[in-house]
Amino acid sequence: MTARIIDGKRIAEAIRRDVKEEAEKLRREKGVIPGLAFILVGENPASVVYVRNKEKACAEAGFSSFSENLPETVSEAELLRHVAAFNADPLVHGILVQLPLPTHISEQRVVESIDPRKDVDGFHPVNVGKLLLGEDGFTPCTPAGVQELLLRSGCDPAGKHVVIVGRSNIVGKPLAALLVQKKPGANAVVTVCHTGTKEIGRFTREADIIVAAMGRPKAITAGMVKEGAVVIDVGMNRIPDAATKSGYRLTGDVDFDAVKGIASAITPVPGGVGPMTIAMLLKNTIRAAKAFAGA
Ligand code: NAP
Repeated sequence: MTARIIDGKRIAEAIRRDVKEEAEKLRREKGVIPGLAFILVGENPASVVYVRNKEKACAEAGFSSFSENLPETVSEAELLRHVAAFNADPLVHGILVQLPLPTHISEQRVVESIDPRKDVDGFHPVNVGKLLLGEDGFTPCTPAGVQELLLRSGCDPAGKHVVIVGRSNIVGKPLAALLVQKKPGANAVVTVCHTGTKEIGRFTREADIIVAAMGRPKAITAGMVKEGAVVIDVGMNRIPDAATKSGYRLTGDVDFDAVKGIASAITPVPGGVGPMTIAMLLKNTIRAAKAFAGA
């Protein structure tokens, strides 16, 4: 069997086109332009690239974006003042504080200072709680992107056994909460593996759908996958590579070349889950803007 490649780039582009149309409609009918504010602390190269890509996506969707680039030495109090200003700004509908933050700043305090109605990353405890309860709130972008990718590629998780490897607060745990809901597009049997799991392969070999979110290059090998399973690779690992212009290449958590001979469908890295994360951020922001406009 050779797996069908799930093209996250193409699916994300379709979502971004829809979001752009919705933004145009919102401007026409309500005079509201969706606005997303970015706060970047320091110059972590990966964070700088992430924020730049998200700003570019905002511009392409017809959104306004607002950026605060703060020095690595900024105090927590100063950072909280910037969040408060964006909370109060009617032109800003979504606020994104790029993580990680320097160790002298409490990420928890900063995330909790964001108005939950503008928390388009879905990290505020109010939105985390709503996700668990199955209420309407903002779902973190990467888990939302994984669900959307499954649905748009004809792999509805309903009734399927989904094994998620990784239990971080931004990927594994919220994805488990999302897919276990008794709702269309979810209703899956969910197993979550982590470093406390003895012999992960015992679980992944039972999976109809595997979601790898460990941050360990090529950790999911062919022997861990059931014939015909769907494999979603969230991992984005930078591997040094002198042959590339940047000096590194991106590799997922799945041994793609070996697993594609066993799975029925698989996401590549890059070009799988990554583009979906940005598309879902835009989707969350337009939702926030529409709620603000009463649309
Ligand atoms: P994280 O916070 O480091 O969490 C990793 C999780 O994987 C932890 O729960 C850890 O278990 C588990 N884990 C690590 N090694 C393991 C192993 N050998 N066996 C079993 N479990 C293992 O990472 P994250 O933020 O969730 O990100 C995971 C990966 O996804 C990274 O490569 C990251 O770059 C990527 N990512 C991609 C996107 C995207 O847009 N595509 C977005 C976010 C993250 P413990 O809890 O027991 O430590």
